[in-house]
Amino acid sequence: MANTKYVFVTGGVASSLGKGIISASLAKLLQSRGYSVTIQKLDPYINVDPGTLNPYEHGECYVTEDGAETDLDLGHYERFINIHTSQMNNVTTGRIYQTVISKERHGDYLGKTVQVIPHITDEIKRRIKLIGTKNQLDVVITEIGGTVGDIESLPYIEAVRQLRWELGPSNSAFVHLTLVPYLSASSELKTKPTQHSVKVLLENGIQPDVVVLRTEHDISADIRRKVSLFCNVDPDAVVQSIDVKTIYEVPLLMQQEKLDSIVLRKLALPINEEPKLEAWRNFVTTLKNPHHHVKVGMVGKYVELPDAYKSIMEAFVHAGAANSCKVELRLIQSEGLTPDSYAEQLADLNAILVAPGFGHRGLEGKILAVRYAREHKVPFLGICLGMQCAVSEFARNLLGLAEANSSEMVDTTPHPVIDLMDSQKEVADMGGTMRLGAYPCTLKEGSLARDAYGRAEIHERHRHRYEFNSAYAEQFERAGMVPTGINPATNLVEVVELTGHPWFVGVQFHPEYKSTVLNPHPLFVSLVKAAMERAGV
Ligand code: GLN
Repeated sequence: MANTKYVFVTGGVASSLGKGIISASLAKLLQSRGYSVTIQKLDPYINVDPGTLNPYEHGECYVTEDGAETDLDLGHYERFINIHTSQMNNVTTGRIYQTVISKERHGDYLGKTVQVIPHITDEIKRRIKLIGTKNQLDVVITEIGGTVGDIESLPYIEAVRQLRWELGPSNSAFVHLTLVPYLSASSELKTKPTQHSVKVLLENGIQPDVVVLRTEHDISADIRRKVSLFCNVDPDAVVQSIDVKTIYEVPLLMQQEKLDSIVLRKLALPINEEPKLEAWRNFVTTLKNPHHHVKVGMVGKYVELPDAYKSIMEAFVHAGAANSCKVELRLIQSEGLTPDSYAEQLADLNAILVAPGFGHRGLEGKILAVRYAREHKVPFLGICLGMQCAVSEFARNLLGLAEANSSEMVDTTPHPVIDLMDSQKEVADMGGTMRLGAYPCTLKEGSLARDAYGRAEIHERHRHRYEFNSAYAEQFERAGMVPTGINPATNLVEVVELTGHPWFVGVQFHPEYKSTVLNPHPLFVSLVKAAMERAGV
């Protein structure tokens, strides 16, 4: 059995420094040297999962193959290292407490007072170790959400402090990411916040092995020495992470900084092979030097916070590179599309995507966007709610069902062309109860989707409660909207397409979750191709 080693990644000074990207980059480098690796995110909030959080609060909810609703960092992990993550890869305080409290009710701790230490910390440690041993991995990288010093992350910091000693020497490494601010008035980079943040870690009993400095300017050898001296880390273990144009450059930069070798040294693992990064390098080169350019409009209601659509945006980056094409993504607030203005607002787009979502706000704008794409033959991809909008639009404007709608929006609609799934009718709890995770789908011969995927059987991830109402299927098909993807077990309609349109696809699933650097998603690749044709490039 593999002797799994553990890397813990913490952050200091400020949030949003990019711990997820650093963790994913390190994982990528270790993987490219032949190590089996995964990444886990510990989130210190009390929600059991982010599934019920508004995207404005927390960005996108990322769905894994096994149907876990997780933090968007897991999307980065999958996109970088091309593996499937699972429920085990994202643990929240809510989930930890839920487990401990149900054990308490079950009587597992009879006679004992249940406390943060040891019961909560033990459960945290159990979940960290489990992911490594269950999958027999060489290295598990565990990212601790939040910033050191936060009240909420204390039990996590304590748990990994204990774990370091339990695992024994050379079996764990601590990477601490901080910010080195630049004061333009005095043209100086400042290390004091880093020193303070490492002090907070030390107060909690953790000496970092590596300090990664986020910075807008090059960090001089002097500054590195200073950080090394004040933070008790080897001078070569002070690593700079300078701002770059694309997150996909970060693994290459981290390799230049030798982050992977330093961590392997701490873990007493051989630094044998050179990392195999050919394909990654080629991807970054094409990404930075595209030959073509298209404009794609993404219509949604959370556009003020682009993180709400992280996976879709990244899927366009991958698909753009696959076509050597820069995809200029314009985020369009669906509430701003009105019957008077929409045609003008959408006029110069080479493709339109209508995004997933919940609830009525902005719905009519999305339906107008579908109408524009259908009537003007603009390549169109509707994802989940976006597909449902395409169905409602078609029913209203081509089937003569003026009040057609999803029963999610108007439960008294006379034409519920999108309706609650039977399996959802008895559901009372909101958390984790949607149709979630990967399901098979069979694609119809000759369809656009089948062409794009190059095969008939696919598996895609879902997150919804409503579905295409098959009572209307024949009517749709006769008028030119054809179900081209069907779930073989339940007959649910997963894909619809329009005849007589160059590229119009609605999918009930979320293709964006499965797009990675090395496997750009076929539907996005095909959509970008169609956009290029439309643009005449
Ligand atoms: N609100 C819709 C449903 O529940 C669509 C969900 C989504 O877009 N993810 O079916």
